[in-house]
Amino acid sequence: MHIALLSRNRNLYSTRRLMEAAEARGHSARVVDTLRCYMSIASHHPSIHYKGQELEPFDAVIPRIGASITFYGCAVLRQFEMMGTQVLNDSVSITRSRDKLRSLQLLSRKGIGLPVTGFAHSPDDIPDLITMVRGAPLVIKLLEGTQGIGVVLAETNQAAESVIQAFMGMKANIMVQEYIKEAKGADIRCLVIGDKVVAAMKRQAVDGEFRSNLHRGGSASVIRITPEERSTAIRAAKAMGLKVAGVDLLRSNHGPVIMEVNSSPGLRGIETATGKDIAGQIIDHLEKSSAPKRKTPPKPKG
Ligand code: ADP
Repeated sequence: MHIALLSRNRNLYSTRRLMEAAEARGHSARVVDTLRCYMSIASHHPSIHYKGQELEPFDAVIPRIGASITFYGCAVLRQFEMMGTQVLNDSVSITRSRDKLRSLQLLSRKGIGLPVTGFAHSPDDIPDLITMVRGAPLVIKLLEGTQGIGVVLAETNQAAESVIQAFMGMKANIMVQEYIKEAKGADIRCLVIGDKVVAAMKRQAVDGEFRSNLHRGGSASVIRITPEERSTAIRAAKAMGLKVAGVDLLRSNHGPVIMEVNSSPGLRGIETATGKDIAGQIIDHLEKSSAPKRKTPPKPKG
């Protein structure tokens, strides 16, 4: 296959690993800088131009679209889809996953475990919003935050009210969430490929911090997940329409609850913690899903 890796930086760990894994399997791969792709929408046959030339045809695209360029990155990916190119995760699923509220709404429809979460517009509704999520301590989140930035723990109802008011005053979109205290600053990242969890790690926040993000100083270790956690992660990725996803969940008193479903999961943390070749498994999955489906022979009649 000729594979395009949509990524802004060829030196990023995940980009390098995916390139290596593709080449090791005899494919040709090229890093394509998402923001240098441009396209003519008016043309009859959709195409993508890149640094002054029409981009060569690819058999498959692996999108690694950073949160700060979701809009443009998904437009580029959509253009590949219009051209009939196979994509690892599609533009609609990636767009869904980037909005925490939209994601939770989709997951709730499928009955997947979630922390009780509220969303409101008017400052007049703040007291009721706080009651709805069972009062403080509670977590306030910017809908489009990443790496733990914009995730605030409010210890008292009064603190919660002031922080929510401040965010609303700044016209920031936030949601308010039950605080899962019993998770004790740990979350579980499940790497889903196709319909399998291929690796899982526990991330533990540093002392005095409740956010376990590795970017916030959290540490990673291998963990054995329960069958319920495994099926929750697989169902969550499926509900979002993602073929490859990093599903973050917390161990709550009422079973596993989903934090978020990441459409471009970083590979460094999980490969280092588990010693697994995740990049290789992603390429294997791409190969399998691009192989022409074998027709099942017709059932014998009579
Ligand atoms: P981001 O997308 O910025 O990583 P998350 O929603 O995943 O934001 O939150 C970051 C971290 O904060 C989580 O990995 C988890 O450790 C902690 N956290 C978030 N929400 C809750 C919650 N409701 N209860 C307990 N801990 C939480």
